[in-house]
Order: sequence, then structure tokens, then C-alpha cells
Amino acid sequence: MGRHIGPVCRLCRREGIKLFLKGSRCDSPKCAVERRDGPPGQQQYRRGKPSEYSIRLREKQKVKRYYGVFERQFRRYYEMASRRPGNTGDLLMALLERRLDNVVTHLGFAVSRPSARQLVRHGHILINGRKTDIPSYLVKPGDVIKIKEREGSQNLVAGALSMEGMPPVPDWLDRTSTEPAEGRVSRLPTIQDVSLPVTPQLIVELLSR
Ligand code: SF4
Repeated sequence: MGRHIGPVCRLCRREGIKLFLKGSRCDSPKCAVERRDGPPGQQQYRRGKPSEYSIRLREKQKVKRYYGVFERQFRRYYEMASRRPGNTGDLLMALLERRLDNVVTHLGFAVSRPSARQLVRHGHILINGRKTDIPSYLVKPGDVIKIKEREGSQNLVAGALSMEGMPPVPDWLDRTSTEPAEGRVSRLPTIQDVSLPVTPQLIVELLSR
């Protein structure tokens, strides 16, 4: 699965919300959302109010960009959620929240989802003692996420852990140790655990058409 390689601040400006794709810069006054109002590009101010379709499309794009997921994979999560009993939108968000790169970010082992993804892809993460280099791996309750005990791997994570202003670890995860860096999944996340302001029902309305 690919990843976005263009300028990421444009993505935040397009959605009009901080997606936290750049680590420490996102909390600094240099953040593009804070400095520049409106979407990127020359045609900044469009006339009229947005259509029903564009409202739903923007909601979907916001979620995809926040979790670093492309369309095909996102549709796969939607299919998985729609096959399960319960509210499809809430289940969709809970599935995305369980992605390994998201969990590594929440545990504070990386400063952003893109750097967590790189940490995973480069083989620094062990799940229940086994190397796992798939960012889309869906964690389960009881899973132990550990950074390899090699000095290089621990050093990579130490920088993120020492950063000030990192958000607290969410309830459904438990950071059991920082040296060596280790965490545990206490329970499955629910829609209440999703920190991104989102209305999942709008995404379901778009994808179920
Ligand atoms: Fe988004 Fe971070 Fe860039 Fe701000 S600094 S626009 S939050 S990626």
C-alpha cells in the first residue's frame, strides 16, 4: 500500500483542520492551518454553499488523510464494518483506530502517524515478541507492542517519548514502560476513543450509495 509523498500541510488546509502529520511542527506557530486561512491553491474562495455530496466527500477525505489510508484500503475497512452487527460508521472508525501505526503514535513512540508508519515498515516493532512490519495490522486486546531492544531502535523512540506536549495515551491503551518502550492493548477502541472530530454517518451515506 502506498503513502502520500507530497506536501502534507496542504492536506490539513484543504480539510480546514489539523491532521497532525508533521510531529512537533503541528503544535508550533509554524503550523500552516494556523498561519494561512482557507484551502490551498489559487481558487481559495468558492461561491455558494457546499453541496451535500461535497460535505460527505470532505468527511471521508479527512478521515483517510488522518489515518494515512488510500481509497481502496479505506473501502475495504468500510466493507468489513458493514458486515458486522452495529453502527457501520462507528465500527469503521473503531477499525481504523486499531491500525498498528495509529497505536504506535498513541503510545507516544512516534511523533506522527507518518513517522509511526516508517517505524513499523523498518521493522522496529514487535507484537507479542514477533516482528511486525505491516502498518495496517489491526491490534487486539492483550497484544503487547514493543520496540526492538536494539540500541538504534530504542534511540529512535526515545526522541518521541521525550517530546513535550504529546497527547496522553488513550484509555484503551496502556504504556507499560518507556525504557524499553513497551505498551499493551487493554481493550478494543470505540467511537468515543476517536479524537478526530468526525461524523462517520456522513461517510456511510456517501459509500452506501
Ligand atoms: Fe497539518 Fe501539522 Fe502541517 Fe499543521 S503543521 S498543517 S497540523 S501537518
